[in-house]
Amino acid sequence: MTTLDSFGRPLRDLRISVTDRCNFRCTYCMPREVFGPGYQFLQRDALLTYEEITRLTRIFVEHGVEKIRITGGEPLVRRDLDRLIREINEIPGVLDLTLTTNGSLLRAQAQKLADAGLKRITVSLDALDDETFMAMNDAGVPVSVVLDGIAAAQEAGLAPIKVNAVVKRGVNDHKMVDLARHFRGSGIIVRFIEFMDVGATNGWQMEHVVPAREIIDRIDAEFPLEPVNPNYTGEVAKRWRYRDGHGEIGVITSITEPFCGACTRARLSPEGELYTCLFGTRGHDLRPFLRNGASDREISDFLGTVWRARDDRYSEIRSSETVGLKKVEMSHIGG
Ligand code: SF4
Repeated sequence: MTTLDSFGRPLRDLRISVTDRCNFRCTYCMPREVFGPGYQFLQRDALLTYEEITRLTRIFVEHGVEKIRITGGEPLVRRDLDRLIREINEIPGVLDLTLTTNGSLLRAQAQKLADAGLKRITVSLDALDDETFMAMNDAGVPVSVVLDGIAAAQEAGLAPIKVNAVVKRGVNDHKMVDLARHFRGSGIIVRFIEFMDVGATNGWQMEHVVPAREIIDRIDAEFPLEPVNPNYTGEVAKRWRYRDGHGEIGVITSITEPFCGACTRARLSPEGELYTCLFGTRGHDLRPFLRNGASDREISDFLGTVWRARDDRYSEIRSSETVGLKKVEMSHIGG
């Protein structure tokens, strides 16, 4: 069964945030002035257990979900994550199982995650020099730790590996070409992400956005590029390959070239709220169903009702009216 939303978009991708905690404080996602020592993170008993997440995932798969992305916060800070990976990997119908991480804990966990069934991985890395990178992650973690994490993922056979870099004008845009140069020919795909007005705490302003067109032009000036067709309908990143055959890069264009028309993504928060858009202002609570004895049928019916009523297309309607909305934090539901 494939459940379609009000625009006919199928439910294909589920992003599961397993924690709202992170060991980084990236300024565009979890600014320290908000997520400081006094910030109230979710308590352990508020989090869905791995058994609850697996049960929900099975029901999402019945509605057409094929691709699972594990996110956070930083998913690798949650204990025994490989146990969840193993359980989800055993669900018939899960065709793709990936994870997004800041890479700082990957050296210790990459092999375990691969052995549990993780197929591939995306690592966030916004610059290659410590000064810029540490200014952005605000956690004092040097680039070498993340590069070593990527090496561990390669050694564990996770592939393809993608690197996500959020580009903020005046902060790291002058380092984009270095990132491209470093990963060219390595098989690792760098995706440059337009700085987004996610949540309500990152001080987003349009003048801090480097449009995808400019990102491409600036890299093309050094390494000539040509566009490539998407791998599948609804692929988030727009693909560009090096004309000299040294691989490809991607751009994620939520601000200047919205892609809501083919958006097939649902997001599950750590405490069990279903969000139908990254820029959502409210979720649909599934936890009471799980903890008050509801049947799979009841949960499935509720999930189907929510998705069929879905009409999100925030990036297409972004305007001066939407900027002030109290949107859920990206660190809560994953990118
Ligand atoms: S803004 Fe919302 S609807 Fe549009 S692509 Fe992003 S998550 Fe999908």
